[in-house]
Amino acid sequence: MQNDHLVKSITKDGMFRAYAIDATGVVAEAQKRQATWSASSAALGRTLVGGLLLSASVLKGQETMTIQINGGGPVGTIMVDADANGHVKGYVQHPHVHLPLNRVHKIDVGKAVGVNGFMQVMKSMGGDEPYSSSVPLASGEIGDDFTYYLAQSEQIPSAVGVSVFVNDDNSIKVAGGYLIQTLPDADDAAIDRLEKRLKQIPMVSELLLSQQSPNDILNLIFGEDNLEYLTDTPVEFTCNCSKKRFAKSLSRVSPDELRAIIAEDHGAELICHFCGARYNYDEEELKSILAVSEKRVELDAQKDDNEAKK
Ligand SMILES: [Zn+2]
Repeated sequence: MQNDHLVKSITKDGMFRAYAIDATGVVAEAQKRQATWSASSAALGRTLVGGLLLSASVLKGQETMTIQINGGGPVGTIMVDADANGHVKGYVQHPHVHLPLNRVHKIDVGKAVGVNGFMQVMKSMGGDEPYSSSVPLASGEIGDDFTYYLAQSEQIPSAVGVSVFVNDDNSIKVAGGYLIQTLPDADDAAIDRLEKRLKQIPMVSELLLSQQSPNDILNLIFGEDNLEYLTDTPVEFTCNCSKKRFAKSLSRVSPDELRAIIAEDHGAELICHFCGARYNYDEEELKSILAVSEKRVELDAQKDDNEAKK
């Protein structure tokens, strides 16, 4: 039984807001569903942890976000969807990447992800147009990239630490992280002290391995007496895919392509990247999807026609 949860706190002096998370179960679930190897597991796992932390810190109510990272490295694109209530899903384009350890004997996530690319964050606030922002990758190590995104796009000076420990058999031993935001009342001396402290403490994965909870991690950074705890939320890997949703995306394929699929294969199987669920459509089902696609093309043509007449 996993005990994944995310705690939110504020320092009593009002200078910092601090979040910490144990997401071992979330990352283990993603690893199992996509059968990822070490470097892919660590890259995806860190992004899942960062996505949960970022969502908890910047989203409200029913808002959701999609984070997309591609640095040109062997793992390809990493995609994570998260909401403000502890739900997350994610996938990595190339799950079977394993690399030699880096010079500090850790999984070389920076090399696996690459640094020639961007981190894009799309926030859906319930309106029609999602808000989208992208920043160049800082190091491809993920934690640094979230820190850079928060500074550049959200104008919130922050420190983000994310870490995943992968067992020799590719399963996940622990995964978690912290996110600390500097609030307007923070003075330079306090920021200096925090930066020094963050360099002294062990990595989050080492802390989790020694049975430390998210609260213990924040207490270690700030001192227990200096923190006020605000919320403690369970987090979980959940996918909201369904046969109906996939049918809708299939109806966006062109009528010609759908006709070809019907003629050649008499059916179709779609697999969800995120959770691995398989959805099968028989010939009859494909024909009704084709009808939706034809209708869409027809309406688009009428619209273009009307535009041209204006
Ligand atoms: Zn799914």
